[in-house]
This record gives sequence, C-alpha cells and structure tokens, in this order.
Amino acid sequence: MVTLDDIRAARARIGDRVRQTPMVASAALSEKAGGPVWLKCEHHQTTGAFKLRGATNAVARLGTVAGVTTASTGNHGRALAHAARALGVPAIICVSRLVPQNKLDAITALGAEARVIGASQDEAFLEALRLERDEGFALIPPFDHPDVIAGQGTLGLEILEQLPDAAAIAVPLSGGGLLAGVGAAAKALRPDIRIIGISMERGAAMAASLAAGRPIEVEELPTLADSLGGGVGMANRLTFPMVRDLMDELILLTEDEIAAGLRHLAAEGQVVEGAAAVGAGAVLAGKLRGPHPLVLILSGANIDPARHAALLEAVI
Ligand SMILES: *Cc1c(COP(=O)(O)O)cnc(C)c1O
Repeated sequence: MVTLDDIRAARARIGDRVRQTPMVASAALSEKAGGPVWLKCEHHQTTGAFKLRGATNAVARLGTVAGVTTASTGNHGRALAHAARALGVPAIICVSRLVPQNKLDAITALGAEARVIGASQDEAFLEALRLERDEGFALIPPFDHPDVIAGQGTLGLEILEQLPDAAAIAVPLSGGGLLAGVGAAAKALRPDIRIIGISMERGAAMAASLAAGRPIEVEELPTLADSLGGGVGMANRLTFPMVRDLMDELILLTEDEIAAGLRHLAAEGQVVEGAAAVGAGAVLAGKLRGPHPLVLILSGANIDPARHAALLEAVI
C-alpha cells in the first residue's frame, strides 16, 4: 500500500513541476448543502487534470527506457505525454474508440503517438502490454501503480494545507488512483476525515467490484463522465483494496445529475468536464450534504468545447 511517506516523497519530487491549484468557496453549493462547500480547482492543473501529478512522479522514478506507454481514457495519456517529453523519451498512448477527438489532439500536440485500439479501455491496455513486452517500453498504468497513486496523493496534502479543517472530501472515482492517493494522505493526517467516492451509474466498474468483493468486468458504456469510464483491471493489486479500505461512502449519479452539476459549475465560472462535475451534481441532487466543510475535487477541464456548449444550450 502507499503511505504518507511515499506521498511526501512524491511531493518533494514533483513539487516544482506541477501547479498548486486554487481552492475556492462556492456560495450556491454551500447553501444547497447546508454548510461550507469548497471547490479544489484541479481542472486548472497543467494538461487540464490531476493526472499530471501521478504521471510526473512515475516518470521521474524511471531508469533508462526505450519509451513509455499506457492505455488511457485521455487525461492520463495526455499527462504521460507531457511528462515523457520532459524526460526526452518517445511515448505511445493507447486509447479506445470511445475517447473524444479533442483528447487525442491534445496527446499528439505533445509529440506523442495516440494509437486508437479497440472499443474498450481493456482492449487498448493489451496493446500497451505488447509494447512493454516486445519493445522495451515502460508501461505506466493510469491508476494501479504505487508511484501514480503517490503522485495523486499530493493533491490530498494540498487540500489539507489549504483547508486544514476540511471534514469531508468528495472524489470522482473510476480506477481509484485519485481516491486511493487522496484518501491515504488525508486519513493519515486526519483519521476522522470522510472520503466520499462519486461515479456515474452507467458502467461504474469500481462500484460493481466492491459490491462483488473482487475486481469484476462491467460493460463500458458512453457517459458524459467519459474520464470515469473503463475497468479496474482484473489483476488489480492496489487501488481496489485501498479504495475498499479508505472510502466511507459511494454515490452514483445519473447522466442528468452529472449534466446539472456541469451546468451549475459553468454558471459559477468553472468550465469542467463531466467527470469533474460529479461532486456538484451530487450536492444538487440532494445525494451529498456533508459533513462540512466539504471539499469537491474538480478533477479535470478536458471537455470538447462544442459538447460543453451544447450541454449549456440544452437548458435554455
Ligand atoms: C482519471 C480521472 C478521474 C478518475 O480517477 P481514477 O484515479 O481513475 O479514479 C476523475 N476525473 C478526471 C478528470 C480524470 O481524468
């Protein structure tokens, strides 16, 4: 498992390569939740998502390699492309056909190859495994890796520095790297803090796996929260047990509830992607009220601008 010491070491390693992102109060969501609600604006991170933390930490710990590869719904791939360019090694990012074009463009703009393989995250992952086995690439997975989890955990350290009396942190949940890292950091420093995971109802692999008591496969479906898609990996070693042990509560949202969260945040001036809107969506749906102060992690900004505009139009 990943410890507070690992996360502090990651912070020392990546501290000057990632941004410290703002924490802002939300008056409207505070009123709705009945107590102070804060937004951790990690969508302002370089590359548009928290994934840069884990990818940068993992790449910084590599020896000499032929290149780096991964399978990603987009944001981890983009982050790894960024980190690889800094290291001066080639990167091949394997993605499924569900990944939006703007995310592919962002990867190639960073000098990496975006290799589109298959209809699911799991199929794309097989190609990354092949590159590791046959071509000497280092495979940096999107969540189930100690250096990735420790990197994401630096976000937990930052949250408690900015808001030392935080009572709960709501974390968008997919493979669980973010929740495992933030949860490990926050609970080590503040054992009583509540860690709340939020996923979409459509194809939530971690929720289904926790219910089954072991990693299981679920059908991957298109969702507004595309960054929350994908399985947890049948051979999951770290994030499944860490999420199971660290998470106090799990909330699932409909597509309409996620869209409402996204629209609300846009009205507050925060342009986020669907995955990052689940905290606001849960508060607005009455599924998340506290305890307070409650921190919502806005995990990423990488939504196709036309899609964002269309979602805002839909209410008018
Ligand atoms: C990857 C990602 C998540 C989920 O993170 P996991 O570590 O897979 O649970 C949430 N939001 C955004 C924007 C992401 O890119």
